[in-house]
Amino acid sequence: MTDRAPYRITGRTGEWELVLGLEVHAQVASHAKLFSGAGVGFGAAPNQQVSLVDAGFPGMLPVINRFCVEQAIRTGLGLRAKVNLVSRFDRKNYFYPDLPQGYQISQFKDPIIGEGVLVVERNDGSTFEVGIERLHLEQDAGKLLHDQEPNLTYVDLNRSGVALMEIVSRPDMRSPEDAAAYVKTLRQLVRYLGTCDGDMEKGNLRADVNVSVRKPGDPLGTRCEIKNVNSMRYIQQAIVYEARRQVEILEDGGVIHQETRLFDAGKGETRSMRSKEDAHDYRYFPDPDLLPLVLDPAWVKEIEATLPELPDAKRARLQSQYGLSAYDAGVLVSDAERAAYFETAAAGRDAKLVANFVTNELLSHLSKDGLEFDQSPIPASDIASLVELIETNVISSKIAKEVFERMWAGEGAPAAIVEAQGLRQVTDTGAIEAAIDAIIAANPDKAAAVKDKPQALGWFVGQVMKATGGKANPAAVNEILRSRLGMTDPA
Ligand code: MN
Repeated sequence: MTDRAPYRITGRTGEWELVLGLEVHAQVASHAKLFSGAGVGFGAAPNQQVSLVDAGFPGMLPVINRFCVEQAIRTGLGLRAKVNLVSRFDRKNYFYPDLPQGYQISQFKDPIIGEGVLVVERNDGSTFEVGIERLHLEQDAGKLLHDQEPNLTYVDLNRSGVALMEIVSRPDMRSPEDAAAYVKTLRQLVRYLGTCDGDMEKGNLRADVNVSVRKPGDPLGTRCEIKNVNSMRYIQQAIVYEARRQVEILEDGGVIHQETRLFDAGKGETRSMRSKEDAHDYRYFPDPDLLPLVLDPAWVKEIEATLPELPDAKRARLQSQYGLSAYDAGVLVSDAERAAYFETAAAGRDAKLVANFVTNELLSHLSKDGLEFDQSPIPASDIASLVELIETNVISSKIAKEVFERMWAGEGAPAAIVEAQGLRQVTDTGAIEAAIDAIIAANPDKAAAVKDKPQALGWFVGQVMKATGGKANPAAVNEILRSRLGMTDPA
């Protein structure tokens, strides 16, 4: 839909195209694990949230957590994907010290969610679609702690068995920015749905990036997977580094070996972790401890009825209902609280003015203080009152910014600040005329020249504003100046 130039890497032999697909692991916003009742709170002391199931004790039986299943269905519906009424859990067998069962319970052939699509929004407001291949439920593994003692490694099983939704995209992305925009949009979606908190710093949402390169028009190249990249910036850095590495190998006549790589954020490079296993290496088989997961279609319908307005629909509605630009609507919709704040403030007011205050003044003050919208010291109703003061010509938009600063500093409601500080706009034409006459009298040559040089009017406007402390009504100033200087109205 846009005429943006395609992203290319230029090598010695010409231009290369990137092909990118992502596997995102999103931790289900559940208080208990996928197959046990153990807690999942962040920051608990090691091994304090481990049941016998999570520790892989023999004879323990997993029991599926209904809440986690519901969150997977919600997410699938949000991705406009097919909900599979029958799905199965499989054992993915591998050995690793943080995996006491010796296998991960995952879903292989029959995932709970099938194909869907995500409309991704770029920073500039333009959009593109990414195909979703599947979403399945699986357990997280534990964690090895290498930094407790020099010669020992400890195992923390708090994360063992935590419910993850693995969301697999089609290889539909062609640039590092688009891959980051995909993760950002997906994160926004799960946060709207409430199915994952999207906290990438805590590892609650992490991306594996599949990268391959090819000459434009060629068939797909061999891909490498970069594991567990946990910020939008790192995703882009990792992709650029990895794509350049592959281009160099190919241009030197080498071949790319399918493998799993790690991104070293400190060095800004990827390095080999292990050669990539194919699915058959894991010897998947249906977990005999778990029955197929059969969903009641009526339950799926019930869940569907509780979905909130999704970000793309909200974005479109804000544009049409309030006449906002795609960019402003995108900024406001980026989280649900921000959009709600805007809509509360905009009710019955000039929505564009409200959007300006919310996306400029308020947003920059909040981010400077590291606050979220629901922590704003200024209630939405005060933004509405501030805008009302502009609409009713009590203050100019310029003075409104000063009032906003005082509101932020906790000086009270906008109308009270305007009265206390004497910021009311001067609409009394007598006062404005007096100021204008004084300035004209003091600058006769400028006043004479302005008839031939109408753009010099701005200088007079500036002087009047200065003389009135910025409080003169700009429309009145313009009108009186034009008449006093003998300028004919261009209209
Ligand atoms: Mn996985």
